[in-house]
Amino acid sequence: MRVRDWLRPPRQMLAVFLGVALVSAGALGWLGWLLLKQDAALESQRRRDLVEQAADRAAATMQLAVVELQSALNSPVSGKTTFAPGVSRISIAQDDMTVRPDGSLPYYAVVRTHPDRLPIFAEGEQAEFARNDLTGAVRRYARLAADPDRDVRAGALARLARVHRKQHDIDAALRAYAHLAAIEQADVDSMPAGLVARAGRASLFEESGRQSDLRHEAAALQRDLQQGRWRLVKSQYEFYAGQASAWLGSPRAEDRDALTRAEAAEWLWQNRASLSATVRRAIALPSGPALIVGQSSSNGLDAVIAGPTFVVALCSRAVAADLRCGLSDLEGRALVGDRPQGRDTAVRAASASGLPWTLHVSVHAEAVAAPSPRRRLLVLAFAVVALVLAAGWYFILRAISRELRVSRLQSEFVAAVSHEFRSPLTSLSHIAELLATDRLASDDLRRKSYDVLVRDTDRLQQLVEGLLDFGRFDAGAAALRLEDVDVSALVRTTVADFQERVAAEGYSVELSGLNQTVLARADREAISRALWNLLDNAVKYSPECRTVWVALERQDDRVSIVVRDQGLGIPIHEQREIFDRFVRGAESTARRIRGTGIGLAMVRQIVRAHGGDVSVASEPGKGSTFTLALRVHA
Ligand code: ADP
Repeated sequence: MRVRDWLRPPRQMLAVFLGVALVSAGALGWLGWLLLKQDAALESQRRRDLVEQAADRAAATMQLAVVELQSALNSPVSGKTTFAPGVSRISIAQDDMTVRPDGSLPYYAVVRTHPDRLPIFAEGEQAEFARNDLTGAVRRYARLAADPDRDVRAGALARLARVHRKQHDIDAALRAYAHLAAIEQADVDSMPAGLVARAGRASLFEESGRQSDLRHEAAALQRDLQQGRWRLVKSQYEFYAGQASAWLGSPRAEDRDALTRAEAAEWLWQNRASLSATVRRAIALPSGPALIVGQSSSNGLDAVIAGPTFVVALCSRAVAADLRCGLSDLEGRALVGDRPQGRDTAVRAASASGLPWTLHVSVHAEAVAAPSPRRRLLVLAFAVVALVLAAGWYFILRAISRELRVSRLQSEFVAAVSHEFRSPLTSLSHIAELLATDRLASDDLRRKSYDVLVRDTDRLQQLVEGLLDFGRFDAGAAALRLEDVDVSALVRTTVADFQERVAAEGYSVELSGLNQTVLARADREAISRALWNLLDNAVKYSPECRTVWVALERQDDRVSIVVRDQGLGIPIHEQREIFDRFVRGAESTARRIRGTGIGLAMVRQIVRAHGGDVSVASEPGKGSTFTLALRVHA
């Protein structure tokens, strides 16, 4: 079939509709895409503005914090000076370093020790090591332990404890350490006396297997080291921190912030000669970022060091919770957070902001990924419009396909009706012509011709009546003449008339359930017509079994006329459709059984007009049972 032929009405309607639907769907999609794109661009611009403003505010907050640290340098340090947590003040002058608050660093870049007192112990050590005269050594050290110089006292006590240990006099050694601990700020061979006493006692406990005393002492040593109790250099701190954790059998417990500040102080010490008058530096150390703000002069250097806790807190305080703050040093190494890049990041370079770092402010990745409420609304609106359109298209398409089906059925109906008329008419005109020209030779032939004339005229009459009845009932024009009808009697009479008509073809109808009187408000002629149709079908579609069964069944307020045959049966998918106008079963068309497809439609029309219904139960090859249910009139 050519496309042009296919596109003739009514299919033209379908093609037009599909075209309109496609164009409108395309237009809607395109419009939606444009709107969403525009919205995304707007959203991105809004985010950029937001981060730019936030970056300006954050830079101002940080500048203020740095200035505050700097101004702290101008106030002299006294016993009452309070320091912000995580901040140490360092002064470097004449190759010495002072740290405030005391103990805020675990170790120092440099420690000035008292002059060596070694020669004074020479006699005692001679006795102790050269002559192995431990008693003599004890005597000499004990004398020095009462010296007015505290460093001499400390040195003597440490040596005394050592000799007592050699003598296995643990109590005496512990006593010596206890005295040593009491003068803890003294030096024992460049080591704080307090540290020597703690470490000495711990190793003594270890030696003598006093585990709980050892743990107790090692814990105290660890705590003292953490709190910066003694002025130590890094190597000393590292050694004793390692010792304490080995004695405790646990990893080193350290204050990361203080360690970073100690590292920063060391950096300051090493670079003190090359620093400019105003120091503002942020350095990325292995243990974290540190901020150094200070002043350098020929007299020395005064600086404040803030550790990672301070820097990280400043970064997160400077921006709102829904934004991300990142800092990187002048070499581009990350100080806080990673270095976010992309369109939604605002950068303030150190050179422009006067800050010791480059500031990055960005939107959280999840916030960028999450659609804005407006975009969500837009998508929802489009979804609703698309849904409404799709629903509309669905219903229009359904209506069109129904129309197409009806028009197909109608043309099939016209073909079927023409065929039904043509065969009796052809035989009528042929016989009439034979009779008119007197070409039928014998009386027998003439009688047979009259029989055919009667049968075909009867068939034509039935056909016309059927069509007229269908026309009347289908238009709803046929006014029912309702009266009290005894359904048993009505069935009996109709079946008797029908039996008479089909007896010649060898068909018989078996009745049951008719020995009861059931009254219904009904149009006698219409119900009889409906039953006749069912009986006619039962006979038409039972080419082999020549018996039809009719039963009357009563349930509560309903009475059913049941017509059963053992004919061709109806496939399940056709059972609902056969009650529609012009619908004929595939089997009946294939077997060329006469019919027009309006019988059952009319039956349903009649029964429904009575407030009842008609149904079918059937199995192909086994037969069909049609049930015509009516309301009983009490
Ligand atoms: P027609 O019989 O003129 O085709 P109907 O409306 O009476 O039209 O029936 C519709 C279709 O239902 C028939 O074409 C046939 O396929 C099927 N049908 C109706 N009654 C029976 C029956 N008793 N046995 C098998 N098929 C039936």
